[in-house]
Amino acid sequence: MQIDIVTIFPDFFRGPLDHGIIRRAREAGLVKIDVRDLRAFTRDRHRTVDDRPFGGGEGMVLKPGPLFESVETLNLAPREERAAAKQSVVLLSAQGRRFDQSLASKLATLDRLVLICGRYEGVDERVGTHLADREISIGDYVLSGGELGAAVIMDTITRLIPGAVGNEASTRQESFFVGPEIGGSDLSDKNVRRTQANSTCASGGLLDYPHYTRPADFRGIKVPDVLMSGNHEDIKRWRRMSALKKTLRNRPDLLEQAELSDGDKKLLAEIADGES
Ligand code: SAH
Repeated sequence: MQIDIVTIFPDFFRGPLDHGIIRRAREAGLVKIDVRDLRAFTRDRHRTVDDRPFGGGEGMVLKPGPLFESVETLNLAPREERAAAKQSVVLLSAQGRRFDQSLASKLATLDRLVLICGRYEGVDERVGTHLADREISIGDYVLSGGELGAAVIMDTITRLIPGAVGNEASTRQESFFVGPEIGGSDLSDKNVRRTQANSTCASGGLLDYPHYTRPADFRGIKVPDVLMSGNHEDIKRWRRMSALKKTLRNRPDLLEQAELSDGDKKLLAEIADGES
């Protein structure tokens, strides 16, 4: 997979690109990430990337010219054919579709991804309507630039590329995971197959269960006995119960989407009984 990032602050990405899983994935050749300086695509002496908004109003707007040229020189498929070519050009925008794990799974199946970072008051609208094929927001708040959003998307997607995380199964057991077919070829929803929680307590769309490591007694705070019992059925049940409890407490909205087994429904009933 190749990811290209277009930004007026290329140095911003030094940190995110050079640590942990992303660094290893790049070194292993699983993902190639290039950062393009938007100012390299300007034609005036001052390397101008922004201008005043038509109609008046606050702030400056990123001009379309340098953004179009920076993406056009990447030789992607035309906008209408990009999905079929397993490519996507994303405009980071507070007005975009909200990024989540299921969108990340779809994007992880692409061959090429371009992330355009806005700044100032935003980006000339024609970039969204005629250059990018999707707009993505990383959450309901306003950032001062698209760079943090691009870093979030790049990180989330890279760890889904087969081989990027040492133990591949572990990315399927984490919070939110609902199981798209890894390596699926198209981006349509029919390719996103929901999976039931499996024997290792895959999240099934819930939050992850609690993790503990040594020491078993830390300042008098003990690890739950069940985890030391060696009884795998009990451990599995405890983990599922804990994941359900935490999801109910912190993100009840996820329970409406999650695929719950009959066993899960019984556990939820037990939780409700315990609280009443
Ligand atoms: N005037 C815009 C905000 C501009 S912020 C509005 O009200 O919607 C400047 C840039 O930061 C945007 O162009 C976008 O690229 C980025 N940005 C801001 N919030 C973001 C978010 N929640 N997700 C992704 N990118 C965001």
